[in-house]
Amino acid sequence: MEVSRFSGQAFLITGAASGIGRVLVEMLAEHGAALVLCDVDTERLEATRRALAETGRRVHAIAADVSSPDQVERMAAEAFRVAGPIGGLVNCAGIYPVTPLLEMAAEEWDRVLNTNLKGPFLVTQAVARRMIEARSGGSIVNISSSASRLARPGIAHYGASKAGLNQLTAVMAVELAPHGIRVNAVAPGLIGTDRVLAAARGPAGEAEHATKRARIPLGREGTPAEVADLVLFLLSPEASYCTGGVYAVDGGFTLGIPRY
Ligand code: NAP
Repeated sequence: MEVSRFSGQAFLITGAASGIGRVLVEMLAEHGAALVLCDVDTERLEATRRALAETGRRVHAIAADVSSPDQVERMAAEAFRVAGPIGGLVNCAGIYPVTPLLEMAAEEWDRVLNTNLKGPFLVTQAVARRMIEARSGGSIVNISSSASRLARPGIAHYGASKAGLNQLTAVMAVELAPHGIRVNAVAPGLIGTDRVLAAARGPAGEAEHATKRARIPLGREGTPAEVADLVLFLLSPEASYCTGGVYAVDGGFTLGIPRY
């Protein structure tokens, strides 16, 4: 009998109820993984859990805000209690409001940094402590962005949070390597999630989307599954010598000028 790629292994995914996270958990489940889903959107979280459970998957859902130290601690404790030792974590929860620098309120700056940078710090700390206690090793993947390298108007907070996440990934990789825990980041470019495609439908959104698309050497946006494929590789034993890397999955978006 064929053994599935991730059977017998448990993974914790934040931002699991929507977009890239949702496709990722579906793909991990197809490969036999047990899953703990975390998201702040309780309704969509429960719908995602139910859809996976109905196909016979081992799946738990825990609502939590990744920017809250108390909620993260409770979520991590519950995750290890219900699923056993978690071997892989994906920090996928993120927000990307667009506001010009001169109009950006300090509260919005804090919300983006707290979700996109403090969140992965808190969740990784809570999970890594338990991985070390279990002596299980593990693999952690942070979902960064092409915006960590490519400047665009309106995303001062988002770009800074993702650039910070790249360096957080590197430092966490160094500190956790002695415990057999690998830490990497994946930096997607323009990905056709429902939210991104909906935003591209308005007149302003359409122009912005077309400008971005024109800069992509491969000539199209990526799919959530194309991001998830890279995440699956980094979670797997095939990536046993990869740590501290930031891997672009962006169709060449961040390379430079695609054509004259
Ligand atoms: P999405 O569809 O909006 O999904 C993100 C999920 O995370 C949502 O369910 C969201 O809930 C949840 N979330 C937000 N804040 C949270 C918090 N504090 N605690 C727990 N969960 C929270 O986003 P996506 O497009 O799939 O993006 C996923 C990740 O990829 C993000 O880190 C994003 O920055 C990154 N990324 C996306 C793209 C792209 O083109 N889509 C490109 C580069 C990088 P709510 O809906 O209630 O906010």
